[in-house]
Amino acid sequence: MKKRIYADNAATTHLSAAAAHAMEMYSSENYANPSSLHSMGQNAKKILEEARSRIAAVIEAEPSEIYFTSGGTESDNLALKGRAFCYPGEKKRIVTSSIEHHAILNSAEFLSKMGYDIVRLPVDERGIVNLDDLEKAINEDTILVSIMLANNEIGIIEPIRKLADIAHIAHKRNVPFHTDAVQAAGHIRVSVKELNVDMLSASAHKFNGPRGIGFLYVRKGIKLTPLINGGGQEAGLRAGTENLPAVMGMTAALEENHNRIAENQNHLLDLEKIILEGLSENNIDYRINGGKEKLPGLLSLSFKDRDGEKILHRLDLSGICISTGSACNSRETEISHVLKAIALEKSYAKGAIRISFGANNTEEEAREILNALLKVVKR
Ligand code: PLP
Repeated sequence: MKKRIYADNAATTHLSAAAAHAMEMYSSENYANPSSLHSMGQNAKKILEEARSRIAAVIEAEPSEIYFTSGGTESDNLALKGRAFCYPGEKKRIVTSSIEHHAILNSAEFLSKMGYDIVRLPVDERGIVNLDDLEKAINEDTILVSIMLANNEIGIIEPIRKLADIAHIAHKRNVPFHTDAVQAAGHIRVSVKELNVDMLSASAHKFNGPRGIGFLYVRKGIKLTPLINGGGQEAGLRAGTENLPAVMGMTAALEENHNRIAENQNHLLDLEKIILEGLSENNIDYRINGGKEKLPGLLSLSFKDRDGEKILHRLDLSGICISTGSACNSRETEISHVLKAIALEKSYAKGAIRISFGANNTEEEAREILNALLKVVKR
């Protein structure tokens, strides 16, 4: 059978060899519960804390500021609801953007139904949140701002440092700032110090780690209400026996990706170039959705008067996996909330596809994707 070409790395990535090895070691050898008091348990606890320190070092945080979760969705829920539930019945305000992942949007919607005041900021045609809009949206009752670092659909990178600085000085109240960095961590440099954020969500399966594991960075002093109650794990913020094999896989993957960021980025940009130059040379009417400040390797392309879903299925028949609309909800076939928010013309919006390359993709694969794409869109 012909080898399939996987170019849907924004949805999920393959498990790296380093991550698989780490997981295997801590499944079959060091498998004790980190809460157990015997020596094997204490050894597992030591290893868990070392992993916490290694992750903290990558994002320039303190180890005690890293809380392991089941992934991006849980981290986002914990940031929003955990913050909101510190103010029960007070109708406090949370400001977010209109292009967030559904883990944020639907958490915000849930809180809105409970009586919280949710503001969803618009974005410009590139997908960028306006700084003045944020400043105006923050009022005396604002308890959190949550704006994503990089968008999973169009790859746009938000000016998080500038946005966080605004939240911190608005109304002299130092409003906490959360960023969903699920699509960015492991792909671009992510430092909580440089970004000046108070909370940050990440998920291992987006950076060649295992599924079902992630973390939430919470700056010391930020109060959250736990959403999962039980034993006292994760300093009482997130109960449940720690998934040590998954934590070790995530740590190995994050370190490996972090150490290769520049090398990977250059490779991904070369792959993008093959697609973009090929489309232009063949006079194809297409648009790149989002601005220039975007994640390397993630291409959201729109073809005039074409159907993105049909393109996806045609490429699938040729052995190529890409996506239409959003990363984590690829079943949705309507025009996505992100493309609506950037006000993409209807004639282009329906013809949107997302090609997301990973470090494993080769130039030959990019040329194969280009040729298959040309065949479909030229029809
Ligand atoms: N946030 C963003 C930006 C994402 O792309 C995703 C995608 O899955 C999530 C959150 C949810 O993460 P997870 O799949 O780990 O629950």
